[in-house]
Amino acid sequence: MKNTTALRTWLDEMNLTHPLVIAGPCSAETEEQVLKIAHELKDSDVNYYRAGIWKPRTRPGMFEGVGEIGLRWLKKVKEETGMKTCTEVANAAHVKLAMEYDVDLLWIGARSTVSPFIMQEIADALQGTDKIVLVKNPVNPDLALWLGGIERLYTANIKNLGAIHRGFSTYEKSKYRNIPEWQLAIEFQNKFPDLPLICDPSHITGNRNMIFDVSQTALDLNFDGLMIETHIDPDNAWSDAAQQVTPTRLKQIMEDLKIRKETETDSKYRDSLENLRAQINVIDDQLIDMLGKRMKVADQIGQLKKEKNVAVLQSKRWNEILGNMVLEGEQRGLSEEFILRMFKAIHQESINHQEKIING
Ligand code: PEP
Ligand code: MN
Repeated sequence: MKNTTALRTWLDEMNLTHPLVIAGPCSAETEEQVLKIAHELKDSDVNYYRAGIWKPRTRPGMFEGVGEIGLRWLKKVKEETGMKTCTEVANAAHVKLAMEYDVDLLWIGARSTVSPFIMQEIADALQGTDKIVLVKNPVNPDLALWLGGIERLYTANIKNLGAIHRGFSTYEKSKYRNIPEWQLAIEFQNKFPDLPLICDPSHITGNRNMIFDVSQTALDLNFDGLMIETHIDPDNAWSDAAQQVTPTRLKQIMEDLKIRKETETDSKYRDSLENLRAQINVIDDQLIDMLGKRMKVADQIGQLKKEKNVAVLQSKRWNEILGNMVLEGEQRGLSEEFILRMFKAIHQESINHQEKIING
């Protein structure tokens, strides 16, 4: 995408003193539920009220959304509270209805962004709209696919665009429902600093107790806003119960989040420092995660050696690893001394693990 400087305009024009906030239930369930949550959120920092009308569920037979009638309820939200509204669209028919009911902002879900066919269909249906359109990352960590979807909209002359980071699906188990892969979001920002970027901690964590921390990390990494699923009775929500927070909790989260100040040379320095430190924290988490994984593999090797009665220490193999790592390290500006010390420590830990298995 060239010349994307127009992209920030919609957000800049809002003149917000805090990050953009989108909140509301995962799904519209009943008229009463939709309106009750909206009334509780109207005197808060919430800029857009969200509710899923068509729900992309992993398996059929689960609650798949109330459909068109929910758009009537969103219209009522706007009339009664003055809040702007938003919902997810996943095909041309959804777009047509959302436009008819004058939904203010549309987002495209992770399961749609993965499909260039669907993205093109939505782009064609939205052609030339001045509505704000936010594109969630695809379920898999593929930056090009994400950008490709946004590009299709941009090419269809939709200029009020933005992106939502909702984490990535993985086969491996982790504490997240969808792993944030923050370095991908950082790369995204570096490539397209003019594209507003919103974080969705609800779908990243899948757990209401982790919403605050992930939101803070996002703000530290210069995200422009947050989308947080909010429900009056989270435990009994018809979808995504574990990750929704109450309106009261949402307001508390907003109050507690540290929002970095802009302007001023001194605070600029602090901003940069905080941003870099947040990046370091993310990388450190990854280092620990990788080391944990390495030890799990070492355990499996220990098990094999035990079965075959083979010695833990295999010097030839170990010297090969060391030699390779010293070379790899050199290419990345890491000293031989550091590499040797670090790998000796890692090796020792592996040996300890394997000893435990063989003798345990
Ligand atoms: C949602 O926002 O409710 C949703 C279905 O999200 P995602 O597309 O990120 O799974
Ligand atoms: Mn949801």
